[in-house]
Amino acid sequence: MSTELVDAALGGRIGAFVEDAILPIAAAMARGDGPSPKRVVEAAGEAGLAGILTPEAYGGAGGTHADFIEFIETVARVDASCAVILDVHLSVGTEPLLVFGNDDQKLRYLRKLARGEWLGAFALTEAAGGSDAVSMQTRAVRDGDSYVLDGAKAFITSAGDADLYIVMARTGEGAHGISAFLVESAWPGVRTGTPLAKMGLHGSWTGELILDKVRVPASNRLGDEGVGFTVAMSALDSGRVGISAQAVGIAQGSLDAALASSRRRRAADLDVDVTALADMEVRTSAARHLTRYAAALVDAGRRVTLDAAIAKLYSTDTCVAVSQAAVDLCAPDSAAEDHPAAVRLRDAKACQIYEGTNQIQRVVIARHLFND
Ligand SMILES: Cc1cc2nc3c(=O)[nH]c(=O)nc-3n(C[C@H](O)[C@H](O)[C@H](O)COP(=O)(O)OP(=O)(O)OC[C@H]3O[C@@H](n4cnc5c(N)ncnc54)[C@H](O)[C@@H]3O)c2cc1C
Repeated sequence: MSTELVDAALGGRIGAFVEDAILPIAAAMARGDGPSPKRVVEAAGEAGLAGILTPEAYGGAGGTHADFIEFIETVARVDASCAVILDVHLSVGTEPLLVFGNDDQKLRYLRKLARGEWLGAFALTEAAGGSDAVSMQTRAVRDGDSYVLDGAKAFITSAGDADLYIVMARTGEGAHGISAFLVESAWPGVRTGTPLAKMGLHGSWTGELILDKVRVPASNRLGDEGVGFTVAMSALDSGRVGISAQAVGIAQGSLDAALASSRRRRAADLDVDVTALADMEVRTSAARHLTRYAAALVDAGRRVTLDAAIAKLYSTDTCVAVSQAAVDLCAPDSAAEDHPAAVRLRDAKACQIYEGTNQIQRVVIARHLFND
């Protein structure tokens, strides 16, 4: 991505961070024996990048969403696990606090998150169904100056390593009966399960968050009681732009691998399917433009629900198609488990699932067509 759209100082910092901190651990992350998610965010903090969207007054870099997507794409091009860890921390794990937090909550948490001292996470999905978030079962019952939270969240990125979870729980009925809470991992009753053994993204932890009668001070409710669904949907609108950037990075990394292999074939006077390479370039480039457009809308304070859905759908379908084409172009070497094209194909698939499946993105887009 050209850096002309992003803060020049941040652009330089991003390149140096990826080279110094991500490249050396990428192979280990892909195997699942790299540093923990928290260590990845600490390293970003040391480079001044763990709070890209957080104002400088709270210890962040005071950057824009153009900076944020540049960061996520650049990391994902090298390692998709680190990209999703950082994406969740920066977007859905921090942004709701920026948008809905009061001064006291911002003072208590933003600096730690922005410096990478704390790892942020977002807990909406439950085992019974993530697409229909309104049917969630986790409850928050008011008891004096606190709420008592009871329930279980599933498929939570960084569960087991995060310090702060933004948790959606039921305080009433229907969509207006959901509230958002800032829950510290150290509080009694907060437990996590063993991370899932996933098809890809082996360096990113995904697991259960169990809330067993967790007493949360009312001062840790994020926004008014009953606005939790709005908090979650607004977080996901912006979050999907980050996932779109992650997908563009994976597609670009796959194209890099395919090009390297094709150059070797050419040097050996072997045939190369240049039309496949051209198609990969076109799709990756188109996905990047859609992602940039959606990020520009967020930066302009415009509603981004439709354009984030379009970008997320197109980019994540693209990263699966491009990484699959890369495996073909790199064959037979790409049959090896640790081949860069094989790693990216496995990593790509989850992008079509999280932060709303691509079927759900199509429902969002169709709703717009019908003005629903
Ligand atoms: C690696 C990974 C990390 C994740 N990280 C997080 C996280 O940090 N925080 C968090 O809260 N969640 C997280 N998730 C959960 C993710 O957001 C959900 O998996 C996703 O939203 C889908 O929900 P579900 O798995 O419950 O599937 P379901 O909602 O049960 O859907 C099952 C299938 O039915 C389809 N479907 C459902 N409804 C419709 C419909 N109306 N029309 C058409 N098709 C439909 C879906 O597309 C899907 O194919 C993560 C998931 C993964 C895989």
